[in-house]
Amino acid sequence: MTETHELPDGRLYVGGVWEEGSGAEIVSTFSADGSLNRRLRGASRADGERAIARAVAAQADPAWRGLKPHERARFLHRIADGIEANVARIAFIQSRDTGKTLRETGALAASAAMTFRYFAAVLETMDEDMTTPRGDYLTLSVHEPLGLVAAITPWNSPIASDAQKVAPALAAGNAVLLKPASWSPLVALELARIVEAAGLPPGLFSVLPGAGREVGNLLVEHPAIRRLSFTGGTSTGRMLALQAAQKLMPASLELGGKSPTIVFADADEDLAIAGILFGIFSSTGQSCIAGSRLFVERSIHDRFVARLVAATQALRVGHPFDPETQVAPMVHHDHRADVAARVQAAREAGAEVLCGGSAPDDPALEAGAYYLPTILAGLPDSAPICREEVFGPVLVVTPFDSEDEVIARSNDNDYGLACGIWTRDFPRAWRVGRAITTGTVWVNTYKQFSISTPFGGEKESGTGREKGRAGIRAYMAQKSFYVDLTGRPHPWAGWPA
Ligand code: NAD
Repeated sequence: MTETHELPDGRLYVGGVWEEGSGAEIVSTFSADGSLNRRLRGASRADGERAIARAVAAQADPAWRGLKPHERARFLHRIADGIEANVARIAFIQSRDTGKTLRETGALAASAAMTFRYFAAVLETMDEDMTTPRGDYLTLSVHEPLGLVAAITPWNSPIASDAQKVAPALAAGNAVLLKPASWSPLVALELARIVEAAGLPPGLFSVLPGAGREVGNLLVEHPAIRRLSFTGGTSTGRMLALQAAQKLMPASLELGGKSPTIVFADADEDLAIAGILFGIFSSTGQSCIAGSRLFVERSIHDRFVARLVAATQALRVGHPFDPETQVAPMVHHDHRADVAARVQAAREAGAEVLCGGSAPDDPALEAGAYYLPTILAGLPDSAPICREEVFGPVLVVTPFDSEDEVIARSNDNDYGLACGIWTRDFPRAWRVGRAITTGTVWVNTYKQFSISTPFGGEKESGTGREKGRAGIRAYMAQKSFYVDLTGRPHPWAGWPA
């Protein structure tokens, strides 16, 4: 079906040393058929402590801390080279780990390499600030590494979300301890192999899959860790933010979403249908930015939704290694069960299932964690499935009558991560986009990304921004200098008398 590559052997990368974990067992499976990828022992608190001790030593070593920015940038380029040389291998491992299509995981791996290159370029072109003095002194503000950074990531796009944290944090001169999710431990271990081969001094990078409550908690609580970068669910993020606040540690939180997609009557309908399908059903809906709430202007609603349903039913659901597949299995059978239960509850609450709403009946897909792309209608905005993140291929659709109404209804949600607007009237797109509380607005497109463009959420979708030139600064401490230019003692002291 495709070339195969060896999976990482399951040892952890503990401060530059490959070691068997001593924490709870992790069973990584391939969700397309339930077969075993690897059984491994996750990191225990003791493993985490060892990684932290090695990171403290490596980060303080002048061999790293004393490097000039352009010298640090070379390591990032070498990591990017290593990722690019291994795209097929990384894609294979990530598809086994997550069930995603090889087409998607190949693109995610390529984007991870670009993330390292981008932050290498930012590092080389970043200036320090000379500020305006109000006396006879020189004032400067410089940026320094924070020390140790904990990066905690979810399972849905591991290599890309790992790179978004690891690249700027290393670029800033820190050591990084990465904890991937237990459903997808393998691709981060492959990243460790690449980082090691790039010659990064040992100790500066660790990969510690393991239980959130065990090694994850340690990484947040430990006094040596000075910064948390978290991507994951809102309830986990809220808990970790409280822990970070206890030790006054800055934390960026990329959390969940329930993003509105708005189709005005003047929209290019084909453009909108293609974008909406991609926005909700690519990655099998397991995307924080999935456009999962669809509002369609009433005058075109029935025709538009009928066309959308037909297009959804034509999507090819299939094996992640089949190049024709658009909708692959979900990450795990347990996750599919959760999504199916939410759809069942919506059905019992009166939802009309316009398409999907079940696993496919194709016997060839029976063993996998597949779920059909699903569109639900006939629910009030207050219904749980209209308010809560499903993190699966489930779209709720509803009509609207006016611009003010759709803005109010879009904003009437706890999340604020992304939004899609489909119209030929650009001033209206601008007005509506400015009025919606969200981190990202897509106009006549959806789910496009540039590493140069900051990304993050509002409300319960999180705090802080990743990407963009300022991305490195988020992992640095700012220090200001006042340097005397007079050579004269301060008159207040009256000294020398
Ligand atoms: P999750 O919150 O369950 O887990 C995320 C990470 O946190 C995992 O590595 C997990 O092991 C760890 N963790 C859990 N409990 C912990 C604890 N007590 N201490 C320390 N670490 C702990 O999320 P998930 O199910 O892996 O991922 C899905 C969620 O991620 C969705 O809500 C999705 O919206 C969100 N997400 C957000 C973005 C974004 O950029 N906004 C991107 C991708 C995914």
